[in-house]
Parts: sequence; structure tokens; C-alpha cells
Amino acid sequence: MSEQAPSQLLPPLQRLRVAVDAPQHSGLTGPLDYASEQALAPGSLVRVPLGRRELLGVVWPAAREDAATGAEFPLQDLRPVTAALDALPPLSAHWCSLVEFAALYYQRSVGELAAAVLPPQLRELEPKQLQLRLKKLDKLALPVPAEPAARPELSPAQAEALAQLDEMLAQNGTQSPQPLLLYGVTGSGKTEVYLRAAEHALAAGRQVLVLVPEINLTPQLEARFAERFAGTAMVSLHSGLTPAQRLRNWLAAHFGRAQLVLGTRLAVFASMPKLGLIVVDEEHDPSYKQQDGARYSARDLAVYRAHLEKLPVILGSATPSLESWHRAEEGRYRRLSMPQRIGGGALPKVRLFDMNSLPRNKGVTTVLSKPLIEALRLRLERGEQSLMFLNRRGYAPVLHCLECGWKSECPHCSAFRVFHKLDRTLRCHHCGFTERVPPACPGCGNPDIAPLGRGTEKLEEQLAEALPGARVARIDADSTKLKGSLEAQLGAVHAGEVDILVGTQMVTKGHDFRRITLVAAVNPDGALFSSDFRAPERLFALLMQAAGRAGRDAEAAARSEMWVQTWHPQHALYQALTTHDFERFARSQLEERLSAGLPPFAHLALLRAEARTAEAAKAFLQAAAAVAAELDGAGQVLVYAPVPMQVARVANIERLQMLVESESRVALQRLLAAWLPALGALKREHKGLIRWAVDVDPLAI
Ligand code: ADP
Ligand code: ZN
Ligand code: ZN
Repeated sequence: MSEQAPSQLLPPLQRLRVAVDAPQHSGLTGPLDYASEQALAPGSLVRVPLGRRELLGVVWPAAREDAATGAEFPLQDLRPVTAALDALPPLSAHWCSLVEFAALYYQRSVGELAAAVLPPQLRELEPKQLQLRLKKLDKLALPVPAEPAARPELSPAQAEALAQLDEMLAQNGTQSPQPLLLYGVTGSGKTEVYLRAAEHALAAGRQVLVLVPEINLTPQLEARFAERFAGTAMVSLHSGLTPAQRLRNWLAAHFGRAQLVLGTRLAVFASMPKLGLIVVDEEHDPSYKQQDGARYSARDLAVYRAHLEKLPVILGSATPSLESWHRAEEGRYRRLSMPQRIGGGALPKVRLFDMNSLPRNKGVTTVLSKPLIEALRLRLERGEQSLMFLNRRGYAPVLHCLECGWKSECPHCSAFRVFHKLDRTLRCHHCGFTERVPPACPGCGNPDIAPLGRGTEKLEEQLAEALPGARVARIDADSTKLKGSLEAQLGAVHAGEVDILVGTQMVTKGHDFRRITLVAAVNPDGALFSSDFRAPERLFALLMQAAGRAGRDAEAAARSEMWVQTWHPQHALYQALTTHDFERFARSQLEERLSAGLPPFAHLALLRAEARTAEAAKAFLQAAAAVAAELDGAGQVLVYAPVPMQVARVANIERLQMLVESESRVALQRLLAAWLPALGALKREHKGLIRWAVDVDPLAI
């Protein structure tokens, strides 16, 4: 590290642009100028003063001419760089481009994004420590077992996928290959394709990046990589690591020592100088979208990164996101289908159980119907396991009349209005249309209209009551708070110590439960009528994924069942599910999206505002809308009225949002780029406002 030299022998000063995390209210969004005696290559890590603090910064590549900031301070007035972390090789130009693109696209400053994705401990790293740490990196290699892992013979579909990947790998770095959408049902052998492709990339001396939605939920994938790549160096990168582990693993990747990096969304920014292949497993999963700060989509950035570095990217899923599916339809992605399970195991038979067929007791709250109890009892007798899947993740309640089927639709949108309990209103989250909850059903006058989709909380208790002696376990965010508890609970299921597993979407991911022959979705209807246009897509993916948990043993597959309890068995989503027909579902959804002008046919952003009062937040958003209306290109962008967020008040802060929509991604980007800088000034005029933020390509509205 080079501290400042004494004054006489000073070499001429240089001007450096440094990306540094300046606070939003400072209005400083681009890299800042500093002076340095040392010529430092772009990508070098430095410590610089900002106000009274000292921050980690990255020497940034020279601005493109069109992005020049104009007013320049004279060199002698610039503050000097405090220190250069010159024991570290600079970050690559590709890395800087990726971060710059992400910052521009998601409307954050480069410095903020760089600071958010670099390991925090880098800041304190002294040269001596670094030497010590680098020594330890040599011990990263996975242990080599006595017997090498067996590699199965590839199926024709797998061989085809691999041949295409080999072709792409051979052209590494010369031209950007098309992203590969690997579309295959659970158990069709996608992971085996990832493993082989990784093997080939490693053999060519490249590094491999594997992104997974949530590492805790997919221990089996990690185990398979560890087994197959015994003797190579693999590290993981995710938010569950200690700061020291995160630094170590990041350094391993940055120095090219780690050949394999397995990580969550954050890992898309790993510095990997020899990167040759990116895999995005379960590419449709919502956890690839960051939900605060810079709200980036790691899936989308993986595609961008692959394009930038001219290397192949595999997007794998049994139920691709409609965005990716649409791109494949348009020919922008290359789609490879693997429709069959390896070993010919059948997917479970889907049975739609019509809740309307049950006798109507007033105030029925049980989600455990008699026929379902019988199906569970049958499994118990046979010594097989069942999985009860509760889609509990907060879908906003829609009001519903049990007598005539009326639901709280918005008269102006293809969306349902949401029941806001606090002020007893029905509000459309798309257009803002609001009414008081009617005293009785507008359809038939029944005074008993109720929110749809609740009452699942007691399932575990009800099961214990209905099936005495059954060993019931529950896995969800609450039951797995303690470190290690998820692993322990999953272990118990695998060991056969559990008869019935009750869980949220957590249990639908990745686990290979061999003895499950019944999967039941007990109350999934809420998502059909959610105000969130992506809810059906998510429900279909979850149900397909849950179904994939059953009958993974070919022998058990024949008698495996997926049971869906629904009030709407004729719904297109369920009809497609009975034949495991994702393509049919995707087609119907895309048609709906096209006619409603929703993604992927339109591009969205949300402007959010938080204030002590809803009025203050609303006033800010309305003023912002007025600013937007005056900007060039405003005609190509539609700004909707502000509406409260689904959870409108958190800790006494009122939260409102405003939807911004355009048919053209470029027009939307251009408007945001011109608009957001003005909002800083606008905030100063709106004293009541606490903060505002923008979410580009929001997942939920
Ligand atoms: P997916 O990732 O699509 O769920 P996997 O790659 O996990 O599928 O494959 C499902 C199962 O089949 C795994 O147990 C895997 O080891 C096995 N398998 C995968 N490919 C083959 C193959 N070509 N021959 C035999 N078994 C295979
Ligand atoms: Zn009614
Ligand atoms: Zn509406």
C-alpha cells in the first residue's frame, strides 16, 4: 500500500476517476475526481476521502465522451487518494462495464453499486493480512475421494445440449453466443448438463459461475458439484457467509484460484478473470431479483455479462419465466427441451379436487377436506410420505362471495382490487381506483363476503388432530430461523422420521425426497385472483415444482399423486397443470399479457415514496409525475396515479408507489435517466418525504 510520500520528491499528480459510494442526497452520481501520484490502472482498488469519511473506491475507466461531466476542478484542488490496494490485481474492464451497465439500468450510482457488491472487508485489508489470506487460498481444493464419482452416460437430449455448449465454448471470447434456455421437467437431467458443461469449461482452463436462487434450499446441488469436482477449487458466495468467509471466497475468485463459484444473486458480480461459462439454475425464481438498494435482476445481469464477455450462459428451468420463454419464442434465446424424466419416471397424476363438491357449512375454515385425509391415511398405511404445500406467501386478499362467485374486480383493469383492512376499502393497485367495501355482495346481495385465501395457518394442528399418531413436521421461514434447523429437519424427512411434511414454497425447491408419493396444494386459489399480474406465473411454477417432489423413484412414480384443492377447477392454469403442460400455460398467459399491455410486452418501473403521512408521499409522487410530463419523450411513457403499496404502512411510515410503463425499454430508460436527477431537488421541496426509490422491472406491483 502506498501512503503519501514526503513533499519534495513528488512525482507529477495524476487525475483519477474513482467510483465511490456517495450518499444519494449529495446528488453525486458519477465517479468523482481524485489526485494521485501513482498512475493506477482502471479497476484498481483505492481508499479515498469523502467528506470526513474514508471509503473504498474503484479507479474507473475513462468516461465515454458523451458522458463527460463538463465542469472539471483544477488538478491541484482535488483531494488525494489515501491509499492504493496495489497487492490486488485491478478489477477487469469487463467487471467495470458490468457494474456500470447495472448502475445505469437500475438507476443507481456506479459507486453505490460497486460498494454494495464488493466484500465489505476489502476496505480494511492491509498488505500483510492479504499475504496471509492468499496463502490460505491454496487449501481450497475439494477433497479427492477414494472412488471417483460415476458419470452417467448422457441421454440424447443431454448430448444435444452439450454439443451446442461445446460449440459455444470453443468460440469463447470471439462472439457472443445466444443464451441457452434449458427447458426440462424436474428430473430430466438439467443438472447433469450443468455438470458436464462446467467440466468442459474447466478443462479449457476457464472459471465457471453457477447461480442458484437460495443456497440453503439447494444443498443437494452443491453436494453434486462438490462430488463431481473433487480435487478442484470451489467456493460459494452468498449473504449467509461471515464477512471473513465472503472476503476469502471473493479473493479466491478474483485471483482465479477458485475454478468454480457457486452463489446466489450477489455472485453475478463476482470478479472472475477467466470466466468461461455461466449457469443460472431455476432461472424463473423470484429470488434472483434484489429487493432493496440497487434492485437488480441477477438473471438478467447474467445474460448481459455473458453477452459482454462473449461466453455461453445456460438458463435452466422446468417453468421458465415468461420473459425468457418469450425471448426463446422470438428466437433471441436458443431453446433446448428435455421433456422426459431420466429413467422414464412419470410425473405424478394431478387431481383437481373441486371444493364446491363439499357440503357447504357456514364458516368452513378447514382446508383439510375429508377425501384429502383419506388420501393421507392411505400413504400412512403404506409407509410413504406426503407433502402438504401451503402457498402462504402473502398474496393480497381479494374479496369473494361464496354464494355467487363474485370477486372484487377492478372495472378499469384486468386486475382484482385488493381489500385494505385498515380503512375497509377495495383498491386497484394498477390504476388506483378505490371504493369502500360494499356492505353486501354486489352480485347477489349476500352480506357474507370474505377475503379469499386465508385459514391455512392451523394446518399442522388440524393434521395432528385428524391423523393421530402421524409424525408431522413443518418447514417454513418460522420453523427454520435457527442456524442448522433447516438441515436437521430435511435430514429427518430423508431419514424417514416424518410422515407428513407441511411446508411453504421453501420445501418445493430442489430437495430430492425419494419417498414422497403424495403432494397436496391445499389452498392455492388466492394467487389466481391476486392484484399482482405475475402471481399466476409464480403459482404455476410452484405447483410444477411441488409436483416434481413426488415420485422421483420410478417405482413409486406410478402411484404418485398431486392433489390440488380448488374452488376453480376449470381455471386455465389448473387445466394446464393436469397435463403438466407449461407450454399451454405460457401461451395463455402471454396472450393475456399482450392484450393487457404487460411485460414482456411492456416495460415497467415503480417509483416508491415513503413519508409519515400518505398525503406527503402522494404529493411528492404527483409532483414527480408533473415533472415527468414535461420531459422529452414523455409521450412514450405512461405514468399512473400513485397508489398505496400492498403493505401500505410499515412502522408508521406510509408507502405509496406509482407505476411507470412504456412499450419501449429504451424510451423508459431515457425518461428515467432524465427524470430521477430532478427528484433529488424535488425531495428537498417536500419536507415530509422520508425517502424515494425506483424499481426498474419490478417483480410485483
Ligand atoms: P434435473 O436437474 O433436471 O432435475 P438431474 O440432472 O438432477 O435433473 O437428473 C435427475 C436424476 O437422474 C439424478 O439422480 C441424476 O443423477 C440422474 N441422471 C441425470 N442424467 C442421467 C443420465 N444421463 N443417465 C442416468 N442418470 C442420469
Ligand atoms: Zn354474491
Ligand atoms: Zn384498476
